[in-house]
Amino acid sequence: MALSGVEIFKLLPKTNCKKCGFPTCLAFAMKLAQGQIDLSSCPDVSEESKRVLGEASAPLIKTFNLGTGAKAAKMGGETVLFRHDKKFFNPCVFALNIKDTLSDDELTKKVDEVLNSEIDRVGQNLRIDAISLEFASNDSSRYESVVKLISQKSPEVPVILNCKDPSAADRAVKAIADKKPLLYGASEANAEAMVNIAKTNKIPLGVYAEGLTALSALTEKIKGMGVEELVIDSGARKAKDIVELNTQIRRAALKKGFKPLGYPAINFILKNDPVLEASIAAVAAVKYASIIVLSSIEKWKNLALFTLRQNVYTDPQVPMQVEQKIYKLGEPNADSPLLITTNFSLTYFIVSGEVENSKIPSYLAVMDCEGLSVLTAWAAGKFTAGKIAQFIKESGIENQVKHRVLIIPGMVAILSGALEEKLEGWKIVVGPREANALPTFLKSKTA
Ligand code: SF4
Repeated sequence: MALSGVEIFKLLPKTNCKKCGFPTCLAFAMKLAQGQIDLSSCPDVSEESKRVLGEASAPLIKTFNLGTGAKAAKMGGETVLFRHDKKFFNPCVFALNIKDTLSDDELTKKVDEVLNSEIDRVGQNLRIDAISLEFASNDSSRYESVVKLISQKSPEVPVILNCKDPSAADRAVKAIADKKPLLYGASEANAEAMVNIAKTNKIPLGVYAEGLTALSALTEKIKGMGVEELVIDSGARKAKDIVELNTQIRRAALKKGFKPLGYPAINFILKNDPVLEASIAAVAAVKYASIIVLSSIEKWKNLALFTLRQNVYTDPQVPMQVEQKIYKLGEPNADSPLLITTNFSLTYFIVSGEVENSKIPSYLAVMDCEGLSVLTAWAAGKFTAGKIAQFIKESGIENQVKHRVLIIPGMVAILSGALEEKLEGWKIVVGPREANALPTFLKSKTA
């Protein structure tokens, strides 16, 4: 956003009518300046102001989707260089590179690897998000048939068509245009033909040039031809080059408002050594890549990269949290144990995982502590005897269990006496300090 809140305010109707949901036009202007709302929320803004503000409020990095449907990946739209300044919005896409020279059986196996890559981590589904299909056969019929095969086997997975040959690209794009694939491979040499394909089929275009000067000249040329949804490849393949060039791209777009580089960046890693590939991909994930193309899938590599991406793209100002309620783990009955913890996501998933490992059906009372872990919540005065007692009484658990025994985390053993006083008729049992001791603890209590 190039305009300040006050500059935006001058262009608004200044009636404080509240139709936008804000009490004043100034409050609306401040939010618009921060990129947190859309100009369309104000129905009374004049056409001239719309034109000026529309230009100024356009994202500095173009935003669009790769693919369609539930697994479509949103790219671009970032507003800050550093995550702690605000947050990063659209997690980078991990794509598996597949060559069309593989046999149909090998292709099917690769597609299955992508489909089976999904894992659940702290309540989020993480996966290899896309397939990048490389035109290596030099046979446009083969490429087209492989595109169709992949589309049929994984209809929801977004596809990158990595093909620099316009005639082969044309056939392949036509086969899956409704899936909104990314056509990658536009260069100075083939720009016109590739732009025509992208324009005709309304799909984004991947643009390649060696170095940022050539790249920005090419994106301007292509934009002038009528394609604006671009993904840019600076030619960086080594970690050092990825850091340098991706950073320059992001800085130019956000700090200088340099539109020719205001697009999501793609990095092809493609190393034979999986450790080296994982290391360079990690660098790209941290340093501004929107699409990272990998040569292989390994579970350990997925776990490392997914975890890193999740850490980079969570909001640093909002702890990850789960809903406050009594969770049933297994099929507990009126005699099942009752444990309590806080609603920090990681705490919940670790504790619930260990209780499930014990194979003892249990109730887990998860108390809203604004997403803080047990010890932090206690230190902040959010996980106190009084608040726990109130939560337990209001939760309705007394109607579900016959006993009156509450297991508290060992980290807050100090609360047991006060809690027994506040929670009349209940016995407080101090559980283990670490969640991994819960299976043994629960088995000993129910033996
Ligand atoms: S709707 Fe428009 S005019 Fe009304 S308060 Fe909001 S910004 Fe101001």
